[in-house]
Amino acid sequence: MTRDRRGNFAFLCDFDGTICPTQMMDFLYQRFAACGMEFADRWQRGEISTQEEIVSTFATVRASREEMEAALDTIEIDPHFPVFLEFCRSRDYSFAIVSDGLEWYIDYILTRHDIRGVDIYANQIHFGVGGFRFDFPWYDDETPMRGVCKPRIVRRYQERGRKVVYAGDGMSDFDVIGVADHIFARRKLASFARAQGVEFTDFDDCRDLLEKWRTLSLMG
Ligand SMILES: [Mg+2]
Repeated sequence: MTRDRRGNFAFLCDFDGTICPTQMMDFLYQRFAACGMEFADRWQRGEISTQEEIVSTFATVRASREEMEAALDTIEIDPHFPVFLEFCRSRDYSFAIVSDGLEWYIDYILTRHDIRGVDIYANQIHFGVGGFRFDFPWYDDETPMRGVCKPRIVRRYQERGRKVVYAGDGMSDFDVIGVADHIFARRKLASFARAQGVEFTDFDDCRDLLEKWRTLSLMG
């Protein structure tokens, strides 16, 4: 396999439940939101969009950025993620995190684990004097119930000539099915892909992901 061909891949990865074992939005809501999981549960039932869930829930949060970041200090990531990322970098694969959560905590948690320079596509929170403000720079009406239009990000990489491999575990990953060139799935995403009769590779953690991806990529 030539180096050019190797570098032709983009590995796009969900964060919550994939790189990070904790579902971070649930973690923050359960600790800091007076309304708890009320809006998150409505999102799970497909009743409200990600934007509505985030804005409505954070409207009931009284904690400061510092208080929430102190809680983020307790969050671990998959211990094999750094090795997985290094593998992608050594092969010149593009790597990015594509999350319907918040860029703030992803960046905070990665930095705390000495991981830098990762591209992140996620929703944005701004901490101001008057409270929280949100931006959804990756929103697209192709997926109106999601803050980040994951299939749009996948196609951005495909348009640059990359074959996109996607790994995820949840509902916000469903839309990449039929768009990404290969899917690694677990939990809800695996059940969904199975029900749709879509081909995918299951995985347990980043070590398993790396082993299976190495085998697949060697097969070309
Ligand atoms: Mg997830």
